[in-house]
Amino acid sequence: MEENLNVYEIVQQQLAVAARELDLDPGVHDLLKEPMRVFTCSVPVRMDDGSVKVFTGYRCQHNDALGPTKGGLRFHPDVAIDETKALAAWMTFKCSLVGIPYGGGKGGVQVNPKELSRREIERLSRNFIRALAPIVGPDRDIPAPDVYTNPQIMAWMMDEYSQLKGVNVPGLLTGKPIILGGSEGREEATARGCVIVVREAAKAIGLDLNGATVVIQGYGNAGSAAGRLLKELGAKIIAANDSSGGVHNPDGFDPIELKEHKDRVGSVKGFPGCNEISNKDLLELECDILIPAALENVITTKNAANINAKIIGEAANGPTTPKADEILDERGVLVLPDILANAGGVTVSYFEWVQNLMNFYWSAEEVKEKLEKIMVKAFKNVYNAYLENDVNMRITAYMVAIKRLDEAMRVRGWV
Ligand code: GLU
Repeated sequence: MEENLNVYEIVQQQLAVAARELDLDPGVHDLLKEPMRVFTCSVPVRMDDGSVKVFTGYRCQHNDALGPTKGGLRFHPDVAIDETKALAAWMTFKCSLVGIPYGGGKGGVQVNPKELSRREIERLSRNFIRALAPIVGPDRDIPAPDVYTNPQIMAWMMDEYSQLKGVNVPGLLTGKPIILGGSEGREEATARGCVIVVREAAKAIGLDLNGATVVIQGYGNAGSAAGRLLKELGAKIIAANDSSGGVHNPDGFDPIELKEHKDRVGSVKGFPGCNEISNKDLLELECDILIPAALENVITTKNAANINAKIIGEAANGPTTPKADEILDERGVLVLPDILANAGGVTVSYFEWVQNLMNFYWSAEEVKEKLEKIMVKAFKNVYNAYLENDVNMRITAYMVAIKRLDEAMRVRGWV
């Protein structure tokens, strides 16, 4: 039978297992199953040739028991309602897991931004935030960058919303350029958080990071920064790819040079000193650490039995299916689940929002220190619980997250 790759159904499945382990109140389970609100909108864009194209946008607010909803906006051709709902649910669990006062949200526009000019992307960004204006805000729902969105897009959105309101509202969203109230360390935060939990996991299983081999699937913002930070810890980056192909050198390469190459030519392909490798073969390379840093459903029943890594650090959201999790678990691969491994991004988003609300800004060192504390604590909470029960790291992470949500919903009187 074909494996179910509907990410919303995957979340339901993961949630059901965690609920059973926790003996969760059915009311609490029901509240977590469905998002509290889903918003769909049409976003018209005047194209450079004068025509108008209408794109479909979504924003899902999954649960706000712990605080205003929080999560990225992606611009990608595969954006769909079920995917947005799944990603919003993961945000709820992620924020709860690291103990920041947010619920979960996510949104996006179904569009291929690579086919749009810079001005068209600007108009799309401005029109999308106008459409979302009634349901977002610093106390309500706080967007951020996600796949194929970036600080510039956040800047246009913050500007448009501020013009609409007649006041400057930097706390509307996070991941802004520093000059507009962005935080030091936000751009590399997802990667830094991921590398901190990989480092802690390596320590826990007795793997020396010095000389450890690393494969990175997806050399975008998170993937390339993870490569740089892992190299700083002594690891050897041996392969990386993007949607157009991959590069491999068993002796390792400089991840910063690869980033510069990608920025220059648009992809990792053709990087000097490396062999080409297919996306399929890259995931199955023998390595110590595999970092999936792109999209959902890349480790499935089709390749899980061939994954040759000791630790998987999920910088992406949803890269591993439940069936693949089972196979990896049986084979002794330690999977650091997305809601833990990529929580550094939203954690520094929280710092950014706090700085915006108090209009007082922190140094890069302060941000790093605060992130380090939160990530190490979250890793220990999950890992220690994992050692004590029979379920994998992902379900354990869900259980830790759900306990806080359960308590918040109870004291609010929702159940
Ligand atoms: N898009 C990122 C994530 O999936 C960051 C969200 C945020 O900073 O709000 O975690």
